[in-house]
Amino acid sequence: MSMLNLVYLIFAFIPARAENICSAARDRPGVARLSTVDEQLKCVLSNIDPGYIIDLTRRLVATRSVYDPAVPGATEEAAARLVAAELSALGLAVHVEEVAPGRPNVIADWQGSAPGPTLLFEGHTDVVTEGNPARWTYPPFSAELVDGRIYGRGSADMKSGIAAAVGAVRALARSGLPYRGRIRLAVLVDEEDLMLGVKHFIRSGWAKGVDGAIVCEPEQNEVCLIQKGAMRVRVEFTGVMAHGAMPQAGVNPIPWAAEFIQALGRLEARLVQEHGENVHLGRPSLTPTIVQAPAEGPPQLNVIPAAARVFVDVRTIPGVDHRRLEADMRAILSAMSERDPRVRAELEVFEDRPWTETPPDTPIAQAVAEACRRAAGREPVYGGVPGATDGTFLSAWAGIPIVTLGPGDRYIPHQVDEYVEVDQVIEAARIYAASAVLFSARHPESRALGRGAEQAG
Ligand SMILES: [Zn+2]
Repeated sequence: MSMLNLVYLIFAFIPARAENICSAARDRPGVARLSTVDEQLKCVLSNIDPGYIIDLTRRLVATRSVYDPAVPGATEEAAARLVAAELSALGLAVHVEEVAPGRPNVIADWQGSAPGPTLLFEGHTDVVTEGNPARWTYPPFSAELVDGRIYGRGSADMKSGIAAAVGAVRALARSGLPYRGRIRLAVLVDEEDLMLGVKHFIRSGWAKGVDGAIVCEPEQNEVCLIQKGAMRVRVEFTGVMAHGAMPQAGVNPIPWAAEFIQALGRLEARLVQEHGENVHLGRPSLTPTIVQAPAEGPPQLNVIPAAARVFVDVRTIPGVDHRRLEADMRAILSAMSERDPRVRAELEVFEDRPWTETPPDTPIAQAVAEACRRAAGREPVYGGVPGATDGTFLSAWAGIPIVTLGPGDRYIPHQVDEYVEVDQVIEAARIYAASAVLFSARHPESRALGRGAEQAG
């Protein structure tokens, strides 16, 4: 056992200390008042149990949840059941909703003692593939704890974030303090692919009445108020198949694809000129990632293909209008067919994920920033989320103000030897718990009550 492990175990067995701190706070019954927020914070933070959070992280990492439709039983189910059981044991009202066969969302509510705002903690159970396990220093699902780091697929992205959120709610519940409002945990499926989990969550009405959300993705505990948008674009050029020895008998779509790609580069340069560089997110980009010709069937050197296909990975920053950008891409194609009437091209945006931006003066942003000061003893460090997450849809579809903050190095997810620093996990749990206290304290009133409100006290 390392020294760090020992320290965490000792921390885990000091209920007497927590009890002393809490009795002062509890002696003032009633709803949260600003004058008691300090005492409440001390009490709740003294109930954060590092041993529990580390253990839960490791149990979750050890529960493989790589989704693979080709392998029976390779879903998020076991990890979701583990989370559901844990939350039931804490006394939360737990809902397990199947999004697709073997792929359940877990939604749980912890109801405070008085009505107030609803704060959502959001995470996902799916993890990306471990690749070749032989390339890992420790087996990818052994959840090895070495020198203050937990290793394994999903340790950072994002089972430690889930464990920290559960640990924060557990601390609130164990504190026995009066709490104004409700905390909802959403532990969803399929974030790494089509985000079916969060879409189902929103369509089922769970986002209604949520006043603010913390997305527990690995952002090294930075306060991320902005996030890149994304568009996935497919362009299909249709020519006429012919023998390579008689090119005049056909129409080759490949030069059109090349021309389009060249024009995309100029459009990207214009976007960068217009929108500049975001301090946290960098520049918008239009990146051709797949070029296929022939679009179907086996390639053959002496055959002009009937069709060519180009896929573009578009990433945007706040300020970029996706509709206008789509129109600009279509205009490139129209200009091409004006010059050459034989050009036949079809463009489809098959996935559209808007960028998000949460103003720093919203209650959730302020609560999290203040929580960094009070629970982590440091000024908040602001950052940006480079990829799309479930938070994209919570913000864009459900209009929920979101802050993304969670343990784990931003660049470690999806890599071999993924790990998370235990200190960061515990700091995240402290920030989450403090955010809940501060959000409740500073939020004047809840929005219209949505699904789950029938349980409100
Ligand atoms: Zn993630």
